[in-house]
Amino acid sequence: MDIFEKCGNFTAAKEVMARGFYPYFNTIESAQDPEVIANGKPMIMIGSNDYLGLTTHPRLKRAAARALKKYGTGCTGSRFLNGTFDIHEELEAKLAEFERREAALFFTTGFLTNVGTIAGLVGKEDVVITDKLDHASIIDGCRLSFGETKRFRHNNMEDLERTLESIEPTRGKLIVVDGVFSTEGDIANLPEIVRLGRKYGARIMVDDAHAIGVLGKGGRGTAEHFGLQDEVDIIMGTCSKSLASIGGFIVASEKVVHYLKHHSRALIFSASPPPTSVAAVLEALKIIDEEPERREQLWKNTRKMKKGFQEMGYDTGASETPIIPLLVGDDMKAFIMRKILFENGIFANPFVSPAVPVGRAIIRTSYMATHTDEQLDRVLDVFEKVGKQLRIIPGRKYPRRKKPRTLRARMRMGRMVMREEIRKRFKSWMEKIYGLRQ
Ligand code: PMP
Repeated sequence: MDIFEKCGNFTAAKEVMARGFYPYFNTIESAQDPEVIANGKPMIMIGSNDYLGLTTHPRLKRAAARALKKYGTGCTGSRFLNGTFDIHEELEAKLAEFERREAALFFTTGFLTNVGTIAGLVGKEDVVITDKLDHASIIDGCRLSFGETKRFRHNNMEDLERTLESIEPTRGKLIVVDGVFSTEGDIANLPEIVRLGRKYGARIMVDDAHAIGVLGKGGRGTAEHFGLQDEVDIIMGTCSKSLASIGGFIVASEKVVHYLKHHSRALIFSASPPPTSVAAVLEALKIIDEEPERREQLWKNTRKMKKGFQEMGYDTGASETPIIPLLVGDDMKAFIMRKILFENGIFANPFVSPAVPVGRAIIRTSYMATHTDEQLDRVLDVFEKVGKQLRIIPGRKYPRRKKPRTLRARMRMGRMVMREEIRKRFKSWMEKIYGLRQ
């Protein structure tokens, strides 16, 4: 059998594209600002992770330009060999200082950081214990490790304790959780995780991809938020969100960092990130320290949006952060809603099963410090209109006639044009890429 046969047989995405509901790989032709040009149209961006709005900050651009002039465009090698420049080491020192840790280790992306750290640390006799809603990169790190993986129900501390109890005390144990869960926007119950970790002799790693720059008085993340900075063994972060660049890192004890420098395949066998990206992160860290008002504005925007959505009757789930998911219900409804939002100049992302439980499809929205009140008001207006039309939120009973009917008809039409077998094929593809979630 030709190994490429499956590629020709994979029609799910194209079928959905042909019907106009395909929500992925939209083309953005501008910077990642609160307003973008996407697919040729101006749109308010509420699908970004640029929480502090730093990707277009003049200081970051100038720092990247200076690095470009000095070092050129790339490193052409891994950290292990010819890819450690002085600027990588400067960033590691700064990250360690930022998180008040002995040492830091900088990887090429956040994904590689999780894969390289977990697979590098968890050996044959060890067990890694993960939350069922942990990020895909944590799951893949576990898959690539030689140890055993055990999963506990999302943020369920009784289940975590049961899991820990079931592991022989002599085995090495690492609990890995997202600090802020990337789809749900809720926060890990770190105080209880720390207590259980201590009780059962497990080490703790927190993925703070969505928490650095966002949570805690100084933007240091989930551990700072709970006052537990000395209790978490490894804090992982990515530079692709609040830090407005690309790259990933861990901060930990010098012992752990030294070990990983010599055992993490994702670090040793992948080229290091270009100095331009590193310089931008260094500048972002300075701004996080110098301009706490950015974080305050982010939280002000978050509160405004959460209140606005909840007043309309939207279910925002367990969200406690600038990631605000809006429950839509049916997968098809989420695709239709995303499409109508796009038509109304709002860029937001649908999450359907199996990324979320069946019947609990959401539109994931996320906010930046740089969104203006006018932009946010416009978002709320559009969501109110669309939510009522799709019967997601209670609205006025439409007196009669046209509009609602047109939209209901659109829903019906949507169902018709996305026939059952096409939906099934699309779902089976999603199951492949989301794999182990739920
Ligand atoms: N962890 C979490 C929780 C994430 O949300 C992401 C990215 N969405 C990553 C890790 C991977 O980071 P990166 O995109 O920088 O590779």
